[in-house]
Amino acid sequence: METGKNHSEKYTGPAGKVWLAGAGPGDAGLLTVKAAELIKSADVIVYDALISAEILSRIPTETEVIYVGKHAGNHPVPQDEINRILVREAKKGKKVLRLKGGDPFVFGRGGEELEELIREGISYEVVPGITSSVAVPAYAGIPVTHRDYTSSFHVITGHARKDGTLSIDFESLVKLNGTLVFLMSISSMEMILNGLMNAGMPSVMPAAVLERGTTARQRRVTATVGTLKEEADRAGIRTPAIILVGKVCALSEQLHWAEDRPLGGRQFLLTRPRQNMSVLAGRLRDLGAQVIEMPAIRTEMITPNEPLREALVRFGEVKQQRWLVFTSPIGVSVFFDLIREMRMDLRDIFGQNRVKIGAIGSATGAALEKHGLFPDAVPDVYSAGQLGEKLAETAEAGDHILIVRAEKGSEELIPPLTEAGLEVEDIPLYRTVYEMDPLLRDETAELFRDGEIDAVTFTSGSTVRGFAAAMNVGDEKPGLDFSRIRAVCIGEQTARAAAEYGMQIATSRQASMNAMVEKILELYGRG
Ligand code: SAH
Repeated sequence: METGKNHSEKYTGPAGKVWLAGAGPGDAGLLTVKAAELIKSADVIVYDALISAEILSRIPTETEVIYVGKHAGNHPVPQDEINRILVREAKKGKKVLRLKGGDPFVFGRGGEELEELIREGISYEVVPGITSSVAVPAYAGIPVTHRDYTSSFHVITGHARKDGTLSIDFESLVKLNGTLVFLMSISSMEMILNGLMNAGMPSVMPAAVLERGTTARQRRVTATVGTLKEEADRAGIRTPAIILVGKVCALSEQLHWAEDRPLGGRQFLLTRPRQNMSVLAGRLRDLGAQVIEMPAIRTEMITPNEPLREALVRFGEVKQQRWLVFTSPIGVSVFFDLIREMRMDLRDIFGQNRVKIGAIGSATGAALEKHGLFPDAVPDVYSAGQLGEKLAETAEAGDHILIVRAEKGSEELIPPLTEAGLEVEDIPLYRTVYEMDPLLRDETAELFRDGEIDAVTFTSGSTVRGFAAAMNVGDEKPGLDFSRIRAVCIGEQTARAAAEYGMQIATSRQASMNAMVEKILELYGRG
């Protein structure tokens, strides 16, 4: 339990607590370590419209989420309603993460939320975030200060009052001679620029408008105070965006970088088994892409597993040459978990004679090597059929073959073995179940509709089917048009699964992460 101090004596229920945290401006890499840890450990997350899908995809499926932002055309949830939600959830004894864009105290009304918590005697912590006012310029190649041009920067709200006017002292601002950063300023852009020029700022002063900074869709328009409005209109700039005024804006021509990365400006949806850390996501992010990770399948160990125990006991007693065959890294890991659970010793399973080991591909082979088993037969091409052929070729007639793999494994593995006169036993270790996260489904369905996802990656037929199932269930079916989805598949079998849904398909040359990255660079990389 947390031991945060209560700020008043009024409330004496279970010790819930609120963390008021900034999520940064969009790029998930700009989350603080603390915010990233809270996303994993919170019981409930209350979040705004500015939180990117890439960040939302880090929320565990079981975590409760409450959206308090506005959708296009709808009104935002009023502040006192948000305050009430925070108090209500904390009073249930929950660990509440209030997640806001940027920094929670920079035009985030974070202070108001805390006042309410104090009134109710609820503990809290504040986790500062990387504010858009500095990070968005940085991703556009604009340092907010520079010794040659300016020695200060100022962050100003461009939000108009109810009567449509601004409460900005333009004379004072112009005298500061610093970089000016206007947040919430797109609808009052004209008033702001005119206000500055009327207060004596030269119309040739460099200025920029930066839309959706730090995300794959960031856009930058640089001009002067005199021409920015026209240029921004021509580009169709929309909120969220910031207006930046000052000599430093001219530096972006030279210092821009984010969109120049090999996969800068690209966003991918990566489907994967829930248990697996994604190597591919890290590689794509390193190349500049924004990556939304979607757990599409999950492995369930089949336990207790009497058939496996019996098969292994028999295996240990067989006199002829024996083979133990694995068809996935997860199968290797589940196998060792199961025998540990059953307290079975490898020496008993292997008995006196040498046991040969078969593996479907290099990743499965590597997983075996970690357990001190070096495979004797691995097909050149990763596929169940090829593994069958390879074993049929390598084994001797009469050999006993024990396949330990997923339930409903590929049907192509066994026929070549039986045809070769081998004795085959096929024991399921785990089953694959589909995952569905309603939050992620809705967020990504919206991104697909807006054409904001460049491609989806699939690393097995079951991730394809899990993804398709997830996108098609629930009360509000998002009604996704699969034929508009561009799929990057790891192999032929995966590609066939994607083809069944009518997706547009590209297949990597080999079944490896390197080959996947190569394919993605070839299709979506710049020059
Ligand atoms: N607390 C936030 C600001 C909240 S006010 C922070 O520290 O960044 C909301 C305004 O922030 C938006 O209207 C826009 O001006 C700015 N903003 C937030 N994220 C942005 C982004 N990724 N790109 C451009 N502007 C952004």
